[in-house]
Amino acid sequence: MKAVVKYDLRDGATELRDVPIPEIGPDDVLVRVEYAGICGSDPHMHHNRINYRINVPVILGHEFSGIIEEVGRNVKDFKIGERVTAETHADYCGKCILCRTNNYHLCRDRKGYGFHIDGAFAKYVRVPTRIIHRLPENVSLKEAALTEPFCVAYSSLVKHSDIKPGDMVAVIGPGPIGILSAKVASLMGASDIVVIGTPEDKKRLEIAKDFGAT
Ligand SMILES: [Zn+2]
Ligand SMILES: [Zn+2]
Repeated sequence: MKAVVKYDLRDGATELRDVPIPEIGPDDVLVRVEYAGICGSDPHMHHNRINYRINVPVILGHEFSGIIEEVGRNVKDFKIGERVTAETHADYCGKCILCRTNNYHLCRDRKGYGFHIDGAFAKYVRVPTRIIHRLPENVSLKEAALTEPFCVAYSSLVKHSDIKPGDMVAVIGPGPIGILSAKVASLMGASDIVVIGTPEDKKRLEIAKDFGAT
């Protein structure tokens, strides 16, 4: 299959390659990728402007949706043909205090798609069922590829802020996370939502108006 691979720890060392289709384990499914988002971190990966440890070669891409193509031997809850998305934590230990208190995204042994484990800029990606989510009928595959960035906005506003209906909210930076944060703020009942950007952000600021910016 074709895949976008970062193959070395230097600027520009990313290319389209032919790689084998991933093999799945007994508790995994194989997902045929339908949509994959380009995260702000992906250009940084391409230019090697990163300050965390990664594995190379690695297939990039961690925001995605797709259709189950194959299921592992032990998989009972998911079927071939189901529409799904996945969390970005491709692997975590499952034993440490963070994992056991449902904070496995902070596990010290966490391995992320597109950084440590082959991601979704490819035709297929291997997904353990413990991080997979079935899509509701009313969510399209295209929308579902935004699940992870939307969850970033959800977590920062719903879990880590104290926004009340009627509040004024300022969002600095109209990137995808900023725009989705404006959306979450409007769902939380904020009445004035100001999204702040630079002159180059004109187009994004226009888009922000469709996502709750007032
Ligand atoms: Zn990302
Ligand atoms: Zn852990």
